[in-house]
Amino acid sequence: MADRYANFANSGLGRTVVKRLGLPDPPRLRRFRAGDPLVTAPVLLGAAPGGRLSEPIRKLLGDAGVEVAPSFSEGTKYSALIFDATGIGDSSQLRTLFDFFHPYARSLLVSGRVIVLGTQPDRTPGPREATAQRSLEGLTRSIGKEFGRGVTSQLVYVAPGGETGLESTLRFLLSGRSAYVSGQVIRIGAGTPVPVADWERPLDGKLALVTGAARGIGAAIARTLARDGADVIALDVPAAGDALAGVANSCSGRALQLDLTAGDAPSRLAGYLAAGPHAGVDIVVHNAGITRDKTIAKMSADRWDSVIGVNLTAPERVNAELLSRDLVKSGGRIIGVASIAGIAGNRGQTNYATSKAGVIGMVQSMAPELEPRGITINAVAPGFIETAMTAKMPIGLREAGRRLNSMSQGGLPADVAETIAWLASPGSQPITGNVVRVCGQSLLGA
Ligand code: NAD
Repeated sequence: MADRYANFANSGLGRTVVKRLGLPDPPRLRRFRAGDPLVTAPVLLGAAPGGRLSEPIRKLLGDAGVEVAPSFSEGTKYSALIFDATGIGDSSQLRTLFDFFHPYARSLLVSGRVIVLGTQPDRTPGPREATAQRSLEGLTRSIGKEFGRGVTSQLVYVAPGGETGLESTLRFLLSGRSAYVSGQVIRIGAGTPVPVADWERPLDGKLALVTGAARGIGAAIARTLARDGADVIALDVPAAGDALAGVANSCSGRALQLDLTAGDAPSRLAGYLAAGPHAGVDIVVHNAGITRDKTIAKMSADRWDSVIGVNLTAPERVNAELLSRDLVKSGGRIIGVASIAGIAGNRGQTNYATSKAGVIGMVQSMAPELEPRGITINAVAPGFIETAMTAKMPIGLREAGRRLNSMSQGGLPADVAETIAWLASPGSQPITGNVVRVCGQSLLGA
């Protein structure tokens, strides 16, 4: 559904009206297009004394063809402000953040990037360092709300020993692929990333299964993973067969008609994957989902059961079947699609929010047990994304969903798909148990 307000606000007359009346001002976000460079201007890199990440970052950016400015120059616009805060050992040293961001705050381009890197508080040697590192979240989340103009701001915690595992994340965050991701905390573990031969096609040779792929976010995920080199199996219910075939064709993939709530769905899916030329699967994206909204007092048991069944029990059963038959390969990726409703709760969505909070629980509880098998499990939690699902919302709620975030607009299915493609990359091997919101830093669940 077209966002008429955003189109108006970006027109000549609209810009004047929006400014005069102080209305929400949705910028045109820089989104990735094939062939785009990572950034279009130099990056400013700063560090607290004693940090361990500046040198790896400088090298990585240089190898990626990104210019790191030797020093700040008045009047120059930068594509990103990156600050290595791993050297901050106690609260007295937080001042280094102010000293870096205060003078440079106005020097970012539209859709610029702020990235602060720290150490997971639970990986620090003691409470004072843990406290200071935890403080970083307040800074990055506030900058995301303050800077506007499509600027995103993230905190990336890197475990000691994880210095080599940063590249896929920095590339994602700097590029237009992360246009609608802001205010997030990403945790990179100490594991070694798998080298990526071609960053344009990091998923070459991988087989990806995408559920709920006939339309909306699932269709975008299928197309994005295929663009990045994966062979795709697009799965959806038989009733969506025509649309599903269209999506599968558009990404030279295969269509699989299956109702995931059927009793034998996991075993049929496992049989299909086992018999295929790949004899297993590398990437599983649990995207299929439904809403059946009513306040709990008015909700029928049927509505409760169907939402929990599709959104949570089906992914659990599929995981159990594929993992017990060893069909998810080492280096594999399982990616759940949660929702900010699962974080913040939502009126009229007790069933949906319960199921989506459950997806987060599934990811967090399974991550440690899958790590020894070389499989990562993460979730994305979309906010308001422009799809058939949100087009059905009452207009008041729809407008609130669109505007109550740092971007003053809804996200696109491609924004969720790009985030999933980053988590699916071989370079993201050290990232597991994360929940990354794709919500433009929505005020809900903030
Ligand atoms: P959508 O309704 O457009 O698409 C969902 C797809 O899942 C449909 O094609 C549907 O046929 C399929 N599906 C439903 N039940 C199935 C089953 N039993 N077996 C197989 N396939 C089944 O929804 P969307 O907006 O594209 O959302 C995709 C995912 O993102 C869902 O999990 C949704 O909860 C989540 N999400 C969406 C938003 C948003 O703003 N659109 C926000 C947060 C989370």
